[in-house]
Amino acid sequence: MPKRDPCGCAGVPFLCHMSENEDARWMAIALEQARAAGALGEVPVGAVILRDGEIVATGHNLTHTLNDPTAHAEAVAIRRAAQATGHWRLLGCTLYVTLEPCAMCSGAIVLSRIPRLVYGAADPKAGMCGSLANLVQHPRLNHRVELRTGILADESGTLLREFFRARRERSKYSSD
Ligand SMILES: [Zn+2]
Repeated sequence: MPKRDPCGCAGVPFLCHMSENEDARWMAIALEQARAAGALGEVPVGAVILRDGEIVATGHNLTHTLNDPTAHAEAVAIRRAAQATGHWRLLGCTLYVTLEPCAMCSGAIVLSRIPRLVYGAADPKAGMCGSLANLVQHPRLNHRVELRTGILADESGTLLREFFRARRERSKYSSD
């Protein structure tokens, strides 16, 4: 029977009782997505949307591939999840993303009413889920998101650092 939870996820009790280990299991799939983005030369960020223990959609960064500045991993996954479920409201879903969402993606998370967000590495330069500000838990917005942070953060951060280091190396040699 569904139980009411103090976190506000009444009716979706599955979400409230995810252990860190369970979250890490789904984040590992988001990391696979991030690696797939890196293989395309995209900044390696990946996302997974889960509902009732099943993957609804995955996505990774595609900004260069699609020449689309809005094609961040979370935005790609949110669009796919809405198409897959036939609903723009992604009720009962958890979004896993390897890097703290930016302003645009945080906005999309609020608009799609995703109740729960788990991210890996914090983004001190652009993160809007606690770093620069916290849009997904803003007291004046009508939707607030349950948040868990730091899941597989080291793996996620290492992937990004290696990607940018390799890119710097390449640009150093190509400018010679
Ligand atoms: Zn974003």
